[in-house]
Amino acid sequence: MRPTGKLHLGNYMGALANWVKLQEQYECYFFIADLHALTTDYADTSKVAPNTLEVALDFLAAGLDPEKCTIFVQSHVKQHYELPLLLGMITPLGWLERVPSYKEMQENLANKDLTMYGFLGYPVLMASDILLYQADFVPVGQDQQAHVELTREVARRFNQFYKIDGQEVLPEPKVLLTPSPKLPGTDGRKMSKSYGNTIMLADPEAEVRRKLKTMVTDPARIRRTDAGDPDKCPVGDLHKVFSTPETLTKVYDGCRSAGIGCIECKGWAADGLVQVLQPIQERRASFTIPQVKEILAEGSNRAHARAAQTMQQVRAAMQMTLTGEAGQ
Ligand code: SF4
Repeated sequence: MRPTGKLHLGNYMGALANWVKLQEQYECYFFIADLHALTTDYADTSKVAPNTLEVALDFLAAGLDPEKCTIFVQSHVKQHYELPLLLGMITPLGWLERVPSYKEMQENLANKDLTMYGFLGYPVLMASDILLYQADFVPVGQDQQAHVELTREVARRFNQFYKIDGQEVLPEPKVLLTPSPKLPGTDGRKMSKSYGNTIMLADPEAEVRRKLKTMVTDPARIRRTDAGDPDKCPVGDLHKVFSTPETLTKVYDGCRSAGIGCIECKGWAADGLVQVLQPIQERRASFTIPQVKEILAEGSNRAHARAAQTMQQVRAAMQMTLTGEAGQ
């Protein structure tokens, strides 16, 4: 995850909540992608470090457990600089230019000059992030599948060129498609920091309730006496994710019969949200910054050890070790 600062409910439901489950089943590596932040925020790097710490705090607050998974900072593991350079030698430019998010991000971030070598190469950085751990699976949503596909192609190409005693070194990772429920922001669009429509994991209860009060509703329900439809209402979408089945029944019945008002309905949605956020916020408050730094340092050491094993094999396969004899 990029170091974007404090995380919001969309980040939680779209990724973190799944990761918390995955750490029970798999050997997982989760990192804060500060090198990726540089691909777009190269001109002002002052926010990268503080934002990295905020994301780490939210990882821990959400329930990632450093005893069960490895949590680290990308740039603290030097192999994340090393492998992209080697993979960059064999990745055709055309592959990078056709990554869907390449054009999309250039258009979305039109105020930034993204005609940079680093930005074009970010899928190689991403492929390296995965291949360094010889990962079997990458937990991603549908929109990230193209990146994993490119990673598979890069691994395949590497394995075609280089082997150790006929053995392939970089396994092709598979997509582990993670469910990400539709989570609208307060304006009804997808919850996103760039839209300014987020509910943050660290928002206190009063702030959550205030934000919900201004949230858009079913546009057909103009007056209190008009019937509405929770399936056409962003607040209805929140209920589907966070409310109990009993509350959901009350919402459907009350909305469709105009038996409840939107203010009341939003209050129930806030109750559901607060219920989810409370334990997250309690965990967040239980960590100090020095503790977080220590967890990241330990995680980075662990990741470094694992990545070093892969790099040893990569270098051997590419014959970048001086084991041969001169002139032979
Ligand atoms: S009652 Fe609830 S679900 Fe229906 S329009 Fe109002 S906020 Fe949306």
